Amino acid sequence: MKIQILSEEMASRIAAGEVVERPASVVKELMENSLDAEATEISVTVERSGTSLIRVTDNGEGMTPEDLALAVERHSTSKLKNEDDLFRIATLGFRGEALPSIASVSKTTIISRPPDVPFGHQMNVEGGKKGDLKVAACPLGTTVEIRQIFYNVPARRKFLKAPATELSHICDVFNRMALANSQVHFTLLHDGRTIADYAAVNEGKDRLHQVLGRDTARDLIPFSSTQSELILQGYLSVAPTSFPNARYLITFVNRRYVRDKILTHAVLHGYENLLMKGQYPGVVLFLGIPFPEVDVNVHPAKYEVRFRRQSEVHEAVADAIRQALKRQAKGSMFAPPVSAPVQFQGVMEPQFHYAAPFPGTYTRSVPGKEMFPIKPRSETGTCGFFSSMVILDQILGCYLVCSSSRGLAIIDQHAAHERVAFEKLCRQMEARDVQKQSLLIPQTVDVSGGESVLLEKKMSVLNQLGFDVEPFGANTYTITAVPALLPEGDYRQVVRQMIAELAEVDKSDKLRQHLEERLATIACHSVIRANRKLEMGEMRALLNQLDEIDFATQCPHGRPVLLEFSHDDLDRMFKRIS
Ligand code: ADP
Ligand code: MG
Repeated sequence: MKIQILSEEMASRIAAGEVVERPASVVKELMENSLDAEATEISVTVERSGTSLIRVTDNGEGMTPEDLALAVERHSTSKLKNEDDLFRIATLGFRGEALPSIASVSKTTIISRPPDVPFGHQMNVEGGKKGDLKVAACPLGTTVEIRQIFYNVPARRKFLKAPATELSHICDVFNRMALANSQVHFTLLHDGRTIADYAAVNEGKDRLHQVLGRDTARDLIPFSSTQSELILQGYLSVAPTSFPNARYLITFVNRRYVRDKILTHAVLHGYENLLMKGQYPGVVLFLGIPFPEVDVNVHPAKYEVRFRRQSEVHEAVADAIRQALKRQAKGSMFAPPVSAPVQFQGVMEPQFHYAAPFPGTYTRSVPGKEMFPIKPRSETGTCGFFSSMVILDQILGCYLVCSSSRGLAIIDQHAAHERVAFEKLCRQMEARDVQKQSLLIPQTVDVSGGESVLLEKKMSVLNQLGFDVEPFGANTYTITAVPALLPEGDYRQVVRQMIAELAEVDKSDKLRQHLEERLATIACHSVIRANRKLEMGEMRALLNQLDEIDFATQCPHGRPVLLEFSHDDLDRMFKRIS
């Protein structure tokens, strides 16, 4: 016979592998249990990056001795009663797997005391083997102590990374948990040193400060939105703040941290054409959704979820982010100016540069005086932010130097015009009204058989973008009209490129994204280049147009349109103030 039934011990160690990957997984499970027990004080102590000790102490509801004895058995939970409960899970845990899994690969001690009892009980489990229950003097709540994780699974131990990496995973888990539970006091000690001590706070923004540090937190703007049953709330970065990786894109569903493709995609979608290539936003997103609408039972460590109506969730998130960014872009015109010191590192004071708390760098705004409180646009009279600037000169053939009541502004004429043209095209496309210009002499384009099939398939999309293309014999087409914004030239290349780029795209969402990318390309080709002398009238017109669009501060590829130096910045640079 080749088949054997695995021993109980083997089976539970295999099961443990799914839940307990590394010390940070233990920290996560234990902190989740403390939160489910409604603790308001949670302290985590680790030694040697969690490999020799992980201790989580809470002041939650505790366990009776009977519960304590059951807690380390497999599939034992107080959080699910029947199958229906699986579809309305309000707790972080529900599988009853964490404690037995952890206890099977470590030396575990649990001490717990529920309210109204003068003493608690202690239970030791070593490699899954339960000891006897003992009476123990202890405060209200629960302490779970894990020593020598993986002492009996050497293979697993070998997979552990360098101590600094394991510790950083623990810090990440701890911080995410803290972000989602600002009214809980959290402490984290490592080898006797306090790494974090987050006092309970009422405001989420205060917790953001505690966890991310003052500088990063200051650059994240609060936003909120309610769309039917979805409640979206959180913090987001606005240009020029951006990050070189997605480390600060943190999403929660009903206060559970998740790594969800739909949510991440939706967030990035909201930032489309506002970020430079390779840059990521900083977003802390809390999505509140009715429990039956989300399945949290799809991943052993519960890091993934499945939404019942995923496209609605996607749309709501992307829309909330976009609207918040739009409001912010408009509002920023009336807030203290955002300077971009990156290019001026040699001249600026050192305090203008901040070491990023993670690998890579980011830029941040320089705080100015609150000279211009944020006002809704309607209250700002007829004079727009850009149109009220005094144009001093055009320099280097590409920058407009202007003075505004906030200080000095330098505008990149190409980036500005590109954004204006782009937004104009987007609006026209949305209204299915891209202005076309008919060609006096139509251009003929020869394509391959494959391209011809594609072209026929994508004809309506090309029309939508402002191109009229007509069949003209086998695999030959004539271009009879092009978007009015495109300058005169050889359009055959553009059409061929469009066909190739639209080849793979069928889904409407991706299609829209591609269309916008194509529009950005059209915009880029249709605008004033650098090194072109502008007349005063042209400069004025450009500034006026900037006031009419939503995202005037970034070109469609995410480059800045505007650099500003507030009065304070100038005074500081000239050492008038410190
Ligand atoms: P789950 O959290 O999925 O229920 P666990 O194995 O993590 O499974 O925990 C088993 C049970 O032990 C929980 O359902 C809970 O009743 C109890 N428990 C675990 N940790 C604590 C704690 N810190 N405070 C109170 N009860 C706890
Ligand atoms: Mg649990």
